[in-house]
Amino acid sequence: MTIEENFFSLDLMVHNMPHYVYWKNKKSIYMACNDNTAHLLGLKNKEEIFGKRDKDFYWLNESLTDQFIADDQRVMIEKITLTKEYSIPIKQFGGALRFFHTDKLPLYDQQNRVIGVLAIAIDITDQKLAEKESHASSLLLEDIIFNLPGLIYWKNKQHQYVGFNKNVVELSGLSRESLYGKTDLEINWGKKEAKVFQKEDKEVMETGIIKITENALPLKRADGSYIVVRTEKNRLYDREGSIVGMLGVALDITDKKIFEQQLIIAKEKAEAANKAKTEFIMNMSHDLRTPLAGIIGLASIQVDKKMEQQEQQQYGQMIHSAGEQLLELLNSVIEVIAAEHSVESIKKEAINLIELSKELQTLMQPSLQSKGLQFQVNVDPMLPAVISDRITLKRLLLNLLSNAVKFTPQGEIILEINQIALEKDQVKLAIRVVDTGIGIAKDRLDKIFDRFYRAHPAYQAEYKGYGIGLYLVKKAVERLNGEINVASEEGVGSCFTLNFNFSLAGKDPDENKTVLQESELILTPGSGKRKGTVLVAEDNALVLHVVKNILSNLNYKVIAVTNGKAALQALQTQSFVWALLDIGLPDLSGIDIAQAYRQWEQANNKPHRPLFVLTAHAVEEVKEKCDEIGIDYVFQKPFTCKDVQTIEQFIQPVE
Ligand code: ADP
Repeated sequence: MTIEENFFSLDLMVHNMPHYVYWKNKKSIYMACNDNTAHLLGLKNKEEIFGKRDKDFYWLNESLTDQFIADDQRVMIEKITLTKEYSIPIKQFGGALRFFHTDKLPLYDQQNRVIGVLAIAIDITDQKLAEKESHASSLLLEDIIFNLPGLIYWKNKQHQYVGFNKNVVELSGLSRESLYGKTDLEINWGKKEAKVFQKEDKEVMETGIIKITENALPLKRADGSYIVVRTEKNRLYDREGSIVGMLGVALDITDKKIFEQQLIIAKEKAEAANKAKTEFIMNMSHDLRTPLAGIIGLASIQVDKKMEQQEQQQYGQMIHSAGEQLLELLNSVIEVIAAEHSVESIKKEAINLIELSKELQTLMQPSLQSKGLQFQVNVDPMLPAVISDRITLKRLLLNLLSNAVKFTPQGEIILEINQIALEKDQVKLAIRVVDTGIGIAKDRLDKIFDRFYRAHPAYQAEYKGYGIGLYLVKKAVERLNGEINVASEEGVGSCFTLNFNFSLAGKDPDENKTVLQESELILTPGSGKRKGTVLVAEDNALVLHVVKNILSNLNYKVIAVTNGKAALQALQTQSFVWALLDIGLPDLSGIDIAQAYRQWEQANNKPHRPLFVLTAHAVEEVKEKCDEIGIDYVFQKPFTCKDVQTIEQFIQPVE
């Protein structure tokens, strides 16, 4: 091939190339171009390009043409090939931007001198747009995944997080950027958990079996709370089908788990309640059936048989005692209801605990003696006087001591009061009632403070009681801001511990004096001594008869009146140890009498005389009013010997 032929074929090739080819002289003036370029620049033919400058193409702006010329000059001066991407508005495309990948290189003459610049460009607009579009859609996809609910993440084979959604970022407590590339071991959830996760991931990547972990370990959130998740783990492949990591999708099932837990607890509670109900019914039916059977049986014998007076009396006593049992049961139900609705205010009075323990000892003596039990009182002799509600404290300790006696066939009962700490005006005390009795089974211990619960049910063993004592004790302890605990072992004994934080009674000698005087009030029931004169106001002859009988048997001299006016007059003119007033008197009610008397007492500077009222209705109905007036206690009819014991806790003995 000749040189001409060679040149011709080269020219032909250039002109037919899909690229845009042009060359300029040293002054960046166009010398020639191929057909494609001429067409792109809107020229009729390629010859028209000769002598044109970039600025002759009006649609090219100045900064662009300056850029072209600067690049041309650089190529020629530095003798380099410059590869650049230009975005140029093209008239042929309605002024739309087109992207060109352009190589510019210096042109040499035969002496190797630079005579111009040759440019070869290719239109990459379509590729660019496609790239842009795919970038946009991958951004959109990323955005969608990032905002998907649940926890979504994927890790590479090195267990590093390479993708995740917003919830995973939040859970990790790290920023989006810093979570990237981290392994579980480097994230907040503990080492143990991280190792379990990595083991699962490895298994999934190796076996390809989808792994579902329903009872996954609770994960620690950045704020310290826990989340339980159900996770599905799967292998992750690349386009070529090789495993590149794993994909995890997890759902927060914390609420479901909590709900499940609550259901289990509720079920257990329902079962326990059902069991308690059955036991309660069995206890109650035993407690009702026993005295009822007695009453019915004895009554039928009385009907059928002609009896001696003595026998008749015996039967009458038996019926009476069966009736008392029923009444006691009814009273205990009422007591529980009252305790549940009680708004009883707590009295604040100085208490000498040493004296109180002596009183308790005296009161417990008869029952201790009748069972032949030893009684030890270990009271810290340095105990300071404290402020609390004396009657409440005394009653609850009596209750515990009575239980101790009841459930101890032999051995001893110990009452212990110890000072635990003394701070400024407060003293911390531990009071213990210990016995060497039958004890309580471990699985029953936590229930003994429940109302009507008996660890030794009536239908199994014969222990009197209705399972309300400890319930009331606990309520009373709480009212005194204390707490009660029990430790027990079957066949060994029980120990009830009460912890109180009492205010000190202060250094005022008078306060302590009050306490000492109180100690003189101790009464020994049934001691045979005259206990003084009392006033009873009751219009119902039968009730009056019963009350008078009870009181006379307990060594009281009783003055009885049947209306309110007489009662008030008697109170103001005579001396009584205490008075019992029926609320339902025909003229003045017991409450009216008490109110009038308290006013009179105050106006005349008289010492406080204990006043008690008797109601046929619920105590709660009148309790508040009575407290307001200064009535010492409200009793519910029928009045019994037990009520006298309660009264005696309020009064001073009379020599
Ligand atoms: P109850 O009137 O039946 O004695 P409590 O409420 O006082 O009722 O006591 C509840 C149950 O706790 C009792 O029935 C008994 O089984 C058990 N219990 C209470 N104190 C003792 C104790 N000191 N020793 C053994 N069991 C006791």
